[in-house]
Amino acid sequence: MPQLAGWHDRAGVRSWALMNADISGLLTGFGAGITAIDTGYVRPRLAASHLVIDSGRAAFVDTGTTLSVPNLLAALAAKDVDPADVDWVLTTHVHLDHAGGAGELMRHLPNARCAVHPRGARHLAEPSRLIAGSIAVYGEARYRALYGELVPIDAARLFIPEDGERIRLGGRTLLLIHTPGHALHHYCVVDLDHERIFSGDTFGISYRDFDVEGREFIMPTTTPVHFDPEALCASVDRLMSYRPRAIYLTHYAEVRDLERLAGEMKDRVRAFADLGRRCAQAPDRGMKLRDGMYSMLSRWLDGHGFPGDRQRRHELLDDDIELNCQGIEVWLERQ
Ligand SMILES: [Zn+2]
Repeated sequence: MPQLAGWHDRAGVRSWALMNADISGLLTGFGAGITAIDTGYVRPRLAASHLVIDSGRAAFVDTGTTLSVPNLLAALAAKDVDPADVDWVLTTHVHLDHAGGAGELMRHLPNARCAVHPRGARHLAEPSRLIAGSIAVYGEARYRALYGELVPIDAARLFIPEDGERIRLGGRTLLLIHTPGHALHHYCVVDLDHERIFSGDTFGISYRDFDVEGREFIMPTTTPVHFDPEALCASVDRLMSYRPRAIYLTHYAEVRDLERLAGEMKDRVRAFADLGRRCAQAPDRGMKLRDGMYSMLSRWLDGHGFPGDRQRRHELLDDDIELNCQGIEVWLERQ
């Protein structure tokens, strides 16, 4: 049985953020009213919630987990925004590092609505299946340590956008577009007025730990159970069709070198799918996939000029490799 390497040991790390009295160290401002908040998930700079403020009104894009909510509320206070002035909690998809905290957060935001994809809505209103599925992946103890208690959201407070639905935040218009490929219950948020996009997991992962002289590294996330390589590449193309000037990833925050990153993202999605096909019939498929994915990522990091050694690369990559390979195996079984 493959391990989720490191997750168990590192679960306690989440408390580093909650104990950090000075929230400012967890905030990164990007202009246009956009601030990334470190949600304190697993390790620093792994997962962000984005706070968007316009004309005194606010929205969160993704929430982290229930355990992240103190950070989010502290960020509001630091920005001098009253919780009553938060209009939206935008959950890009219902994976728990993105939407696990939405229920608890909504309890603190009397006027907010929570926008969730039509395929994810029932899971936020009635999270028992989400909980059971997550416990199946992580085990009960790790699940509790990573995610805490999931709080259901009153269905009357959910907003369920169709593809292409527009919402208002203060003076700006946000366009919500359905973007399958990472998850069927995924949408992205296009900030039309500022030419920016909040991509959840659709544009992949770009940890700041991999930056080399400001140059960004990108890799796909192919978490179970909906990975679909061609749909994901089409969604990346759709994001780029809006000609954004910056994209904000949940993992982690702003990237700017978008033409290069979009091309590399699609190449790497297809490389992961090819790796899956090559390993499909192997008796030791799981092992081959994991070894192959580490080698592939390490080669891309060499090309990127990343100086970290083998141990450092494993620290930064192993959790994603494990989830990615599980997702690719589910995809192979679906073929
Ligand atoms: Zn996800």
